[in-house]
Parts: sequence; C-alpha cells; structure tokens
Amino acid sequence: MPEQRNIVILGASYAGLGAAHSILKHILPSLPSDGPASYKVILVNSSSKWFVRHASPRAAASEQLIPYDKLFLDIEPGFKQYGLNFEFIEGKASAWDPTDRDVSIVTAGGEQVEVRYHALVLATGSKTYSPLFSATEDGHQQTRSELDAIHAKLTSPVNHMVIVGGGPTAVETAGELGEYLNGAAGWFASRPSSPKASITVITNSSQLLPQLRRTIGQQAERFLNRVGVDVRYETKVSSSHSEPNGKTVVVLHDGEEIETDIYIPAMGIQPLSSYVPAELKNEAGYIKQNIGTLRVDAAGARVYAIGDVGEASHNSIMDIIDQIPVLTTNIRRDLLAAHKDIRAKADSKDRVFQVNTTETQLVPVGRSKGVGAILGYRLPSFLVWLIKGRDFMLSGAGDMLDGKKWAKEAAWKGQ
Ligand SMILES: Cc1cc2nc3c(=O)[nH]c(=O)nc-3n(C[C@H](O)[C@H](O)[C@H](O)COP(=O)(O)OP(=O)(O)OC[C@H]3O[C@@H](n4cnc5c(N)ncnc54)[C@H](O)[C@@H]3O)c2cc1C
Repeated sequence: MPEQRNIVILGASYAGLGAAHSILKHILPSLPSDGPASYKVILVNSSSKWFVRHASPRAAASEQLIPYDKLFLDIEPGFKQYGLNFEFIEGKASAWDPTDRDVSIVTAGGEQVEVRYHALVLATGSKTYSPLFSATEDGHQQTRSELDAIHAKLTSPVNHMVIVGGGPTAVETAGELGEYLNGAAGWFASRPSSPKASITVITNSSQLLPQLRRTIGQQAERFLNRVGVDVRYETKVSSSHSEPNGKTVVVLHDGEEIETDIYIPAMGIQPLSSYVPAELKNEAGYIKQNIGTLRVDAAGARVYAIGDVGEASHNSIMDIIDQIPVLTTNIRRDLLAAHKDIRAKADSKDRVFQVNTTETQLVPVGRSKGVGAILGYRLPSFLVWLIKGRDFMLSGAGDMLDGKKWAKEAAWKGQ
C-alpha cells in the first residue's frame, strides 16, 4: 500500500471551503500518484453546516427575511464530486502537535481521534462577542439558539435596544432591526412617523464605519435615523449584566447605567485558536505567519494559515478571496518539492499575498439603503443595495460551497 498523505484543513467556512476546493481541483490532479487516493484532503469543521455569517445582520431581525435553510448550509454534498480524495470530519480540533505533525479532533460523536498530516491549513476563523454573528469551535447550535431567542423577543413589544460597535456589523444590524421594528421614514422625512422602539448604537469612535471616509459614516447615521436608530459617539461600555426581569443593564465608562430590553455587543472579533500552541500565536491570539507566503514558518514544513485566524488577514472575505490563489500556488510548490519533483523548481517564486488597502466596504443600512466604496470610489446607495443589500449576497454562497467559485485557478506570473 502506498503511504497516504493527508492534507488536513481545519475550519470549513469562507477560507477552509475555498482552500479545500482549490486543492482538490487544481493541485491533487497534478501531483505524482503512487496509487488511488495517495493524497487525501481531510476537512474538519465543528459543525456539519456552514453558517453564512455575512448574512447574519438581516437574519437577526427575522427568519422570514433570511430562512435558516439559506443561512446554515450542509457542507458535505458540495464535496461528493471528489470521491475517495476527500473526507469530512465533523469535530473540533482540540490540540495540535507541530513536532509529531498531528491534530487531535473530538468528533461530533464524542470520540477523540489523532489525524496525521503531510500538509496542514489552519482556517478556524474568529468568533464575535454576540453568538448571533458567528459559529464557534463548538459548532453552530449556539448561534441558532441565539437567533431563536432574539426572534422570540421581537414578537413581544420592544421599547429599547442597545447595539454596541461602530463597524459594519453594528451598523448593518441596527439598520435591519430598526427597519423591522420601526419601519422607514417616508420620502421627505428623516425619521419614521411612529417608531415602536428606541434603538441606540454606542461607539467609542468619533465616526461610524472608520474604515471609510467620514462623510460616508455621516451618511450611514442619516440612514440609521430613517429607521429610528440614534448614535452615541465616543462612549465606552465598561460592562453589562442581565436582570431577573429579563432586561440588561449596560454600564458606561462614566458610570451611567442604561436598562434595555435587548443588548447586542456587535464590536470586534476574537480569533478561534485555542488549539494552537502559545508560541505560534501573537498577543491577540492570531496565528503568527509569513504575511506574504501565508506559511506558518515556525510550525515546520507545509503549514499555512488563511482567513481570520491568521495575522495576515484584516478579517474580511475579500482578503480570503485574495489569499486562496496564494495558498494554492505555494502549497503546490511545497508538495511537489516534497516529492523532489522538478516542477517545484519551475515555479521559481513564491506567490505573495498583499492586503487590499483601498477604501472598500459595502454596508447595507436597512432593506433599501446602503453606504460604501469600492477601490476608493464612493458608491451611491442604490448600487450598495443592488450589490449587497438586496439579498445580503446569499446568491453567491452556493458557489463557495460547491466550489464553482474556485473552478478556475487565478493566473500567476511566477509559473
Ligand atoms: C456579521 C458579519 C458580517 C460580515 N460581512 C462581511 C462582508 O460583507 N464582507 C466581507 O468581506 N467580510 C465580512 N465579514 C467578515 C467575514 O465574515 C470573515 O472575514 C470571515 O467569516 C472569515 O472566514 P474564515 O473562513 O476565516 O472563518 P470563519 O468564517 O470564522 O469560520 C471558521 C470556521 O471554523 C470552525 N472552527 C472554529 N474553530 C474550530 C475548531 N477548533 N475545530 C473545528 N472547526 C472550528 C467554525 O465553526 C467555522 O465554521 C463579516 C463578519 C461578520 C461578523
């Protein structure tokens, strides 16, 4: 029997799905084969479902707007096309030993298995402070329960809501919940005529959407006002606690206390890297890596990090779309080199990832408006709605899941 070489990918979201499809489509067929399935891609995810996170702000408002069967998608069917070259494990990576080159997985059935790897791709992403916006190392069930809970709360009268954060997650969520509860202002009005809930966005910044120019942040505020949402700037939340009556008390940095019916912390993220040895992580918990080649150089040969969990990413799907071709080229070189294949030398250079630093971000605010810019060009509200706000880009999720998004390999001058 030829030795089986496992290419193990941890995490099956934007990054892990893209990596798996690209390796299966563009690398495995070109590798020297000692027999059937001498290479195998093993994709590990803490859930059998992919949580389509970018649609979660609208999903928070109502299941009618984004049904669960469009938000939680089965991972395995998209990989049936690859036959014996692919295996999916529903389980949580609990430990990683870079010296022995194996990962410990606790499967969904509770069994602990050790999986040896020839190459390893770390793509376990990040979690948000509110479970509404991310799956975690424990799967997607908590997200689903949290969605159920907020939908149930929204069916009874909600007088007051606090959303913390000034980035796209906070603005999009406030816009969706504002329009759901309060409706939108009429043609010549700046506020809805009879709002049901007072909704406040609290940000410690002096503007909304700090990655965009100030005037776009101001436009976002006007659109939020249209759905009955107000913004408090330069205000820090120091803590929050639940009350026996089901309300939440939010404590601000100056001691002010706000009692609210619904509290949503929508600021920032934390990398999901608890299984990674401490010496391979930076202070914030992101995996240390070569930010150009995406290799985790300190972890031995053929180890890579992509997506939110690595320090190269600025935590966006756009970064991942730029990283997948880099990973594909560099992992192919490394796999061929391990075979002492002459083609590894033919690929004379590593491919290098470069973060897109242009002003690029699209932020729907409610179901008919939006703000944003692409490559430094400000977009009118209608275009933001057309590109993203119309369906929160759910129509593209299927292509990511079944690999059509990665059908063609992006050309590379170094080859
Ligand atoms: C509300 C919201 C909206 C967003 N909208 C946009 C947008 O419109 N455009 C954009 O460019 N970016 C957007 N982003 C950012 C984008 O969602 C992230 O950059 C992206 O999700 C990162 O993908 P990932 O594959 O690296 O990790 P994640 O999407 O975080 O997925 C990681 C996967 O790994 C699994 N996992 C974690 N730990 C383990 C473990 N130990 N073992 C096994 N499996 C594990 C998780 O369950 C999950 O399935 C948004 C983010 C949020 C929070």
